[in-house]
Amino acid sequence: MTRDSRKALADPALRQQLAARLDRETEGEVLFDLGSLGRYATDASIYQIFPVGVFVPRNELDVVTAIGIARELGVPVLARGGGTSQCGQTIGEALVIDNSKYLNQVIDIDPERGTAVVEPGVVLDQLNARLRPHGLCFPVDVSTSAQATLGGMAGNNSCGSRSITYGNMVHNVLAISAWLSDGELLEFAPRGKLEGRAAQIADFAAGQARACAKEIELRWPKVLRRVGGYNLDIYNNQSERPYTEDDSVNLAHLLVGSEGTLAYTRRLTLQLKALPRFKVLGIVNFPTFQQAMSAPQHIVKLGPTAVELVDRVMIDLSLNNPAFRDTIRTALIGEPAAILLVEFAGDDGAQALARMQELVELMADLGLPGSVVEMQDGRSQQNLWEVRKAGLNIMMSLRGDGKPVSFVEDCAVPLQHLAEYTEALTQVFEKFGTHGTWYAHASVGTLHVRPILDMRTDGPEGGAYKMRAIAQATAGLVRKFKGAYSGEHGDGICRGEWIQWQFGPQINAAFRAIKNYIDPIGLFNPGKIIDPPRMDDSALFRFPPPSAPHRYQTLAFKPVLDWSAWNVRNNPLSGEVSAPGTGGDVTGGFAKAVEMCNNNGHCRKIDSGTMCPSYRVTRDERHLTRGRANTLRLALSGQLGADAFVSEEMHGTMELCVSCKGCRSECPTGVDMAAMKVEFLAHYKNLQGFSMRDRLIGHLPDYAAGASRFSSLLNLRDRLPSAAWLSEKLLGFAARRTLPVWRSRTFWRTSDEQLFASADQTLQAGAASGKAAVLFVDTFNGIFESENALAAARVLRAAGYTLHTPRKESGHLCCGRTYLGTGMLDRARAKMAELIGALLPFASRGIAIVGLEPSCLLTLRDEALRLHLGAAAEVVAARACLLGEFIARESQAGRFDLEFREIHDRILVHGHCHQKAFAALSPVLEVIRLIPGAKPELINSSCCGMAGSFGYEAKHFDLSMKMAELSLLPAVRAKPDALIVADGTSCRHQIHGGSGRRALHVARLLEQQMGPA
Ligand SMILES: Cc1cc2nc3c(=O)[nH]c(=O)nc-3n(C[C@H](O)[C@H](O)[C@H](O)COP(=O)(O)OP(=O)(O)OC[C@H]3O[C@@H](n4cnc5c(N)ncnc54)[C@H](O)[C@@H]3O)c2cc1C
Ligand code: SF4
Ligand code: SF4
Repeated sequence: MTRDSRKALADPALRQQLAARLDRETEGEVLFDLGSLGRYATDASIYQIFPVGVFVPRNELDVVTAIGIARELGVPVLARGGGTSQCGQTIGEALVIDNSKYLNQVIDIDPERGTAVVEPGVVLDQLNARLRPHGLCFPVDVSTSAQATLGGMAGNNSCGSRSITYGNMVHNVLAISAWLSDGELLEFAPRGKLEGRAAQIADFAAGQARACAKEIELRWPKVLRRVGGYNLDIYNNQSERPYTEDDSVNLAHLLVGSEGTLAYTRRLTLQLKALPRFKVLGIVNFPTFQQAMSAPQHIVKLGPTAVELVDRVMIDLSLNNPAFRDTIRTALIGEPAAILLVEFAGDDGAQALARMQELVELMADLGLPGSVVEMQDGRSQQNLWEVRKAGLNIMMSLRGDGKPVSFVEDCAVPLQHLAEYTEALTQVFEKFGTHGTWYAHASVGTLHVRPILDMRTDGPEGGAYKMRAIAQATAGLVRKFKGAYSGEHGDGICRGEWIQWQFGPQINAAFRAIKNYIDPIGLFNPGKIIDPPRMDDSALFRFPPPSAPHRYQTLAFKPVLDWSAWNVRNNPLSGEVSAPGTGGDVTGGFAKAVEMCNNNGHCRKIDSGTMCPSYRVTRDERHLTRGRANTLRLALSGQLGADAFVSEEMHGTMELCVSCKGCRSECPTGVDMAAMKVEFLAHYKNLQGFSMRDRLIGHLPDYAAGASRFSSLLNLRDRLPSAAWLSEKLLGFAARRTLPVWRSRTFWRTSDEQLFASADQTLQAGAASGKAAVLFVDTFNGIFESENALAAARVLRAAGYTLHTPRKESGHLCCGRTYLGTGMLDRARAKMAELIGALLPFASRGIAIVGLEPSCLLTLRDEALRLHLGAAAEVVAARACLLGEFIARESQAGRFDLEFREIHDRILVHGHCHQKAFAALSPVLEVIRLIPGAKPELINSSCCGMAGSFGYEAKHFDLSMKMAELSLLPAVRAKPDALIVADGTSCRHQIHGGSGRRALHVARLLEQQMGPA
């Protein structure tokens, strides 16, 4: 390059020129604002480098054009997929080109030949979903399969849990078509098919391999898991597994693992495999870690498809995580020090089971009879694999500044040395005052271990110092045991400088020659593989210590919510976490909560769960949980300029977060963006003031009861087109959206006195029989759909419960949800305090507080605990439950006596996001199953798109409908005769608006079916 990228970043005129030309000459998205640069400055490593600019191409022509413009202006180019790399290879001072949004088409599937051609931005899980109907799969099953792209997987030579059977990416890529830095498109394919320039490249590389032949044989790690440097051994295979069936050379394999430094991948041709018809899983429980590490060398002889290690620390972290607790329990016998997940797969079920029996016998021979949990059920196996796949993220959920750091996390050693290696490495960690958490692809000797280091500190106790010292000691062990220092995740920044150490100067010079030959102007991803920076250059850290040029510091402010649980320190040796509030965070723990995002990109998944609906419809990094967390972190640490935290840019970044709380339960490190949005809004609105719409929405609980007396007048809004139009023009409510129908006969005006008892009667009944409950009637069910509250009351009364519903003289009680959503924190706290005061006498005597609207009731279990309301809030939270949860619990305890009539209808159930986030949805299914004949089917839906007031707003209407159309509305339309159950008020509204179908609260379904069977 004529100009290095530092100059490019520092040269505003050049950046402007680059942006202007991209804008003019392509159809892609040109993102050069500071926020966008910041969102692309990190991958899942400990590093951070701001790019020169970000470009999101819409088509292949955009990519070639962008490469050409960058070349002409002397700006490096860095291709990006999901950005989930752990070593820093996906960041740099370059024009970052994100393939994931548009270049994500599966071009061809050929079931006969068992091949597929894909664009680089295709995500593995989505490819496999397309292959499943053909009985095929792409078998390189990385843990990040829900977000990793095939372009990135090839870039890193990724490997999956089943690599012992299927090999790494390099074993499964048949061809890559890629652009060189001069813009020429080449097909990298089997040597025999190459012509012209591709053939010249192959000959050049072959010459380099020949010249280094002796060194290659001497120094090249002879293990399957070796991904460091370029794959020069394609000319003289050193891997345990041949790269091609006939051991011939395929030039595509030189690009695999090159981390985007040689060429820019346009398309990949992949070798597919048949899906095995049977899988069984044996989970071996070990009393000591050492035994778990000694066993794989024997187990692999049984021919398993995978052998994966989970250690005690991770077992404990999983047991503490509500999302994983039940699943991990299914694998345990007592309290093992570690478990190995041993999978046998194939087309012959009997053979797979026979292998499992051999495993049982083997473990008995090894002195561990009765140590194997035999799992044959596919769903249970899948659930356990999900926990294993979430392993790193589970480890990363450690609170405090010390974090498990990736740099020696994937060294691979021959199996016979595994136990000795782990023991020696444990001693290294201890020497440096830390410990590591282990999980491993034990079948192939790759050990994922990350010592806990605090990268924000300097000196001999600091992260950078210890990182180098531990790396050196580990490298010594890897050499001793003839292993590979870089075994799975690539070199990037943290292992780039170790390439020369591993391969020696001659092979390293050959790597350099290959780079210079293929990319002579050094356009692609400079500083990776060739000329890497020091791994411990603290100027490149995401959290630079005090000695770095720009120390990481957060700006002080007083949070409105209680974040003290994150404001802690952890002991790197013992893993102990200090008391809440003792972490020294000047934002009271808010910044530390934000910093929990480690950029693993799990929020980019789109096929399962809820997280993250705004990304699912926009596919924008900005509208992703990770994008928001990064923007908050950069703003709180002053990296986006003054007052960035309360800026319009920040507002734009938070705006499409629908507060579904999907991330709260699905983000493996527990990033709770909905709560962060509450915090942000409180500060932002405090500065900007409240709009008329904010006031109308926020204060709804205050005026709704009074306003309902004028229901006919208010309902004209949906009857007169001009009124809807006016409400959009003046207040921003979407004219295309109907509003909830006002009724003068609210719950509080129609309530059947026979249904409810006094407070005293309820307390007495609770004490006498335990069959008492408080029904908390929220604003929405109370005003707009009182039939739900009445139905719930009738069902509970019929089942023999004494019921009370608290009220106050001046109106009804409210949880403050609408105030939280609009940033009116003081009002929210006041409302919640009043409600808690009214509920406390009951809750403190063990009486359940039963609610109907998920977002309202669950506020008692969530935000209420962060509003500084003291112990009373905890007491009430412990008793607060949704109707479904209450009935399911009572029924399990044998206390719910009510008969239901048989039902013949199909029943579809859509869960409210908050129900899912608090595991309150399966009780609803359980309760529906109390009705004879009921077979509820859960719709696999994310957010319905309404999300409180979000979908009512004109500027969000289209997006809201897109969210609903992702899966909910198609599922509803697909079963026109089914009954639909949805407990969320807004969900029901969306279903009606989008499909014309009326959904019911579960209370109404139960009421409808009451009566003798
Ligand atoms: C929690 C966690 C678990 C992980 N588990 C595994 C695992 O089991 N196995 C494993 O192998 N890895 C694992 N990884 C690492 C990472 O997820 C994988 O390497 C993944 O395949 C990277 O895919 P990506 O789309 O995110 O690539 P990116 O990070 O976006 O890119 C990876 C590299 O490929 C290059 N690249 C991307 N697109 C192109 C293109 N079109 N042309 C040229 N170069 C390109 C990039 O420049 C970069 O150097 C894990 C990471 C995390 C955070
Ligand atoms: S928000 Fe959570 S899921 Fe998303 S990248 Fe960050 S840690 Fe991963
Ligand atoms: S609360 Fe929902 S919309 Fe907001 S970031 Fe989390 S998953 Fe995304």
